[in-house]
Amino acid sequence: MEVRLLEATEDPEEVICTAARNDYMEAFVGDRSFEEVMATIEGDDIEAKKETLIGHLLKQGHFGPFEHAQATFAVKGISRSCMAQITRHRHASFDVRSMRYVSFDDVDPEDVAEGELVVTPPSATDPDWIGRNQKTGSVDEETVEEREAIFRESVERSVEDYQELLDLGMPPEDARFVLPIGTEVNMVFSVNARMLMHVADMRAAADAQWEIREMTERMLDLAAEWCPLTFEYYEENMKNRKNRLAP
Ligand SMILES: Cc1cc2nc3c(=O)[nH]c(=O)nc-3n(C[C@H](O)[C@H](O)[C@H](O)COP(=O)(O)OP(=O)(O)OC[C@H]3O[C@@H](n4cnc5c(N)ncnc54)[C@H](O)[C@@H]3O)c2cc1C
Repeated sequence: MEVRLLEATEDPEEVICTAARNDYMEAFVGDRSFEEVMATIEGDDIEAKKETLIGHLLKQGHFGPFEHAQATFAVKGISRSCMAQITRHRHASFDVRSMRYVSFDDVDPEDVAEGELVVTPPSATDPDWIGRNQKTGSVDEETVEEREAIFRESVERSVEDYQELLDLGMPPEDARFVLPIGTEVNMVFSVNARMLMHVADMRAAADAQWEIREMTERMLDLAAEWCPLTFEYYEENMKNRKNRLAP
């Protein structure tokens, strides 16, 4: 899996603070410099003032201003299972690589058995891996070798069958029905900072699946560079909130 930040609002925290100050100022923020807009906020310099205001907004649950800062991520090589989970979030915008227009006719099925094109879950190779609703706890080496062999044979065979169907003239959009849910997709998606915190609440949590958790953690790392005061506050004070229904 690879996650990159493609584009994002420049000076996101200036935008967030300006939007928030708009709510409580008689003057029009469009006519004022950022320093003037922030004049009454506590802090020795503009960075300290931003930190004060952003911390205050997040603490009070005043999340609207965080919708003005938008980020676009590119994600490579997640399973269709992970894609199905992330695309349930309705306030994000997605583009997903098509399996109607992109066919995997030149992929070697033996490479698929080695991990190309289909994501290999850690439980296929790690005897100590514990997942949700698992029938047993840790297993011995022999059992995990058997698991891995079945998994690899199965994905290899499904890609062989897929390519055979393509050779027999079946359209990719129909031949894809035999491919596994672990088949990789690349995706571009855009979210605002508020939504990203909500996604992280649900998908970086311990009860989320390992793959979407990893993807979300990587997005949070990138967000911490892009919008640092917000995502540092989130990491320290808000992550792992319990019983949240929405941000
Ligand atoms: C651990 C885990 C297990 C899950 N298991 C399943 C499962 O087995 N089956 C399944 O189908 N889904 C499952 N989901 C998906 C889950 O039910 C949500 O559909 C998904 O996480 C989207 O989140 P959201 O509901 O917060 O909506 P989002 O689209 O992220 O919207 C954000 C917020 O906006 C508000 N909102 C958005 N749309 C509406 C609306 N129409 N009406 C009212 N409020 C709205 C809500 O406050 C919502 O929390 C699972 C999620 C997790 C994290």
